[in-house]
Amino acid sequence: MKYVMFSLGFDPAPRLGLLRGDVIVDIRTAAPPTWPDAPTTLVDLIHRGPVAWQRTAEIGGGASSAHSHLATTVRWHAPIPRPAKNVFCLGLNYAAHAKESSQARGREMKIPEVPVIFTKAPTTVSGPFDDVEVDRQATQQVDWEVELGVVIGKSGRNIAKANALEHVFGYTVINDLSARDLQQAHMQWFKGKSLDGFCPMGPVVVTADEFGDPQTKRLQLRVNGVTKQDGNTANMIFPVDVIIEWLSKGLTLEPGDVIATGTPEGVGMGRTPKEFLQNGDVVETEVEGIGILRNRLVDR
Ligand code: ZN
Repeated sequence: MKYVMFSLGFDPAPRLGLLRGDVIVDIRTAAPPTWPDAPTTLVDLIHRGPVAWQRTAEIGGGASSAHSHLATTVRWHAPIPRPAKNVFCLGLNYAAHAKESSQARGREMKIPEVPVIFTKAPTTVSGPFDDVEVDRQATQQVDWEVELGVVIGKSGRNIAKANALEHVFGYTVINDLSARDLQQAHMQWFKGKSLDGFCPMGPVVVTADEFGDPQTKRLQLRVNGVTKQDGNTANMIFPVDVIIEWLSKGLTLEPGDVIATGTPEGVGMGRTPKEFLQNGDVVETEVEGIGILRNRLVDR
């Protein structure tokens, strides 16, 4: 199943939808009168657990065209527009990216032996096709990072690697936009990673059963149509199950939590000369089996 959050012109509140081909089924209106409190957001759905997931999938699959909207006619929102906590992120999770980061910073960034984990503020999340406003008083060095996003479905702490993928609801695309000047100046990465709008997410969450093995997916990122990153999740240093094992040590992961699993090589900081995003640039961020984010950067 591919779940989305969308809104209609007459009602700006985001609602839960199921993407079927080129149409989106409105779960709220498609649900039968016998289920008056059907889920209205994706986070709501995730919290309710497997019985509600099954029921919602059946409603979405069987809905008539009266409850469907052409996907091109709605406004798309991030599937989890405001996570309950920070977005968890992996740093240096692809060897070739760790190497280019070392060269760009002029100091050794060793291949990590345990995952490097940082976070982005919940206010970073923006929609899959939204403009990202860049505050030029804050940064001149905005960089891109295509990443596979993991959405937790089942709560857990001290999760073993062998069971880790059972805790995943689904997968999404994330562009971990990064203000490199702030990331450098503040030592800790949080500030440079957490400017408003710096986490475009979506366009859908693909459920884990449909997505399959998360370690076989191609990742691509283009700026104004030019390919900048072209990697594969097979090259993660810490795959998704190992990330969940480490992250959940003594730390409860909860339904709706989001993990950005790191970026392959090809970021702007690692290029010669360095490249950063400018006013009007359009970034397309793609993960195989999920879809493409398309975001324009706009100075303000
Ligand atoms: Zn990243």
